[in-house]
Amino acid sequence: MQRVILPGGTIGVLGSGQLGRMFALKARRMGYRVHTYSPDTDSPTGHVSDEEWVGPYEDMDLVRNFAKRVDVITYEFENIPGATIEKAAEYAPVRPNDAVLHTVQNRLREKTFLDKNGFPCAPYAAVRSLDELMAALITVGCPAVLKTAGWGYDGKGQVKINHESEAEAAWKKVEGADCVLESFINFSHEASVVAARDLDGEFSHFGLMENQHVDHILDVTLCPGRLPEHVAHEAIEITRGIVEAIDLVGVLCVEFFVKENHSLLVNEIAPRVHNSGHVTFDNCTTSQFEQQLRAVCGLPLGDATILRPAVMVNLLGDLWANGEPDWAAALAFPSVKLHLYGKTEARPGRKMGHLTAMADSIDVALDQALKAREALTAQH
Ligand code: AMP
Repeated sequence: MQRVILPGGTIGVLGSGQLGRMFALKARRMGYRVHTYSPDTDSPTGHVSDEEWVGPYEDMDLVRNFAKRVDVITYEFENIPGATIEKAAEYAPVRPNDAVLHTVQNRLREKTFLDKNGFPCAPYAAVRSLDELMAALITVGCPAVLKTAGWGYDGKGQVKINHESEAEAAWKKVEGADCVLESFINFSHEASVVAARDLDGEFSHFGLMENQHVDHILDVTLCPGRLPEHVAHEAIEITRGIVEAIDLVGVLCVEFFVKENHSLLVNEIAPRVHNSGHVTFDNCTTSQFEQQLRAVCGLPLGDATILRPAVMVNLLGDLWANGEPDWAAALAFPSVKLHLYGKTEARPGRKMGHLTAMADSIDVALDQALKAREALTAQH
C-alpha cells in the first residue's frame, strides 16, 4: 500500500512561479507545509512557502537535501531536467513521475506518444536538418509551423512557414535545433480540459474550457466553454484516455484545436496545473490546485463541480506600461476576484496576475471580466 501524506506533511514543489504559488496557498490552507526549489529568489511560490530553496536544478547535492526534507515532490513547470527528477525520486516520490515528464518535455516524444496511442493531433514530421525540413514541407504541406522539440512554451521557439521559399530563414531562426514541423491548423476555437487522476486511477475533470490567445499567450478562459455538449464530451474522453495511457498521478491539461466542423486535435499536454484552470480557484468546489494536492498526497480527489460560470483574463506586464494599474477600478466590479503573483518587475508579455469574474451566465461573466481589465488602465 502506498503511504498517504496527511495534513502536517511537507510537499516539495520544483519551480517557483504563480502555479506553485496558488498550489501552496491551497496546501497551506489545508495544513501542509510547502518547500519550493528553483534558481530564483523572492519568487511567487517562495512568498507563500515555508521554505524557499534557491539553487540551480543541476546542483545535485542541494536537490538531494531538498528531497530528503519533504514527503512528496511535485512540479509546476515541465522544463525541469530529467536528472534532477531522478535524483529527487531517490528520496521522495515525484508525482507525476519522471516517465510522464520525459514524454512531454520534448514535442517529438509527445507527438509520438499521442500518435502511437491513437489520439488525434496535427500532421507532423521530425526535422533535424534543412534537407529534412524541405522533405517535411512536402509531406506535411504549407502553411506549417516549425517548433523546436525542447523547451518551448507560450509560442516560444516557433516559426510559421507559409511557403517553401521561407524554409531556409525558418531553419536559421531555430538555430539548427531538433524540431517538429506541424501542419498549421485553421481552427475555429482553442479549448482545454484540465483533469486529475489519483493513485487509485480515479479520474476527475473541469469540463471543456474555451481559450483565447493573443500573440501565442493565453488571454481569456471561459468556464464552461461555449462549445456544443458533444464536443466537450469527446474532449473529456480523449483526456481520460491520455491520463490513463500516461499513467498520471496528479493534474494534467490537454490543449485542443477545435476545427470549424467541430473535430478535435490535441495541440499539447502539460502534466501540471494550467493557466486555463486558474478559474477553478474561484468557481469550483475543488480547484485544480487542491486536486493536485490531493492526488500527489494519495488522497481521494474532491468534487470538481463548477459552481458558477466564470471567465479569467490574464494580466500581462504590458498593463504597467504607463504606471501601476488602477486596482480599485477593477475591484469596483463586485464579482471580480483579483489574483496578483507578487512579481516586482512588469515586463511586456510577463504573466503578472489575472482577474476572474463570476456571473449567472458565461456571457455576463465575459463582459464583466473584460470591462474590469479595461478599467485597470482607463485613466492612464
Ligand atoms: P504552443 O506553445 O504549441 O501551445 O502554441 C501556442 C499557440 O500558438 C497555440 O495556442 C496556438 O494559438 C498557436 N499554434 C501553435 N501551433 C499551431 C498550429 N499547428 N496551427 C495553428 N496555430 C498554432
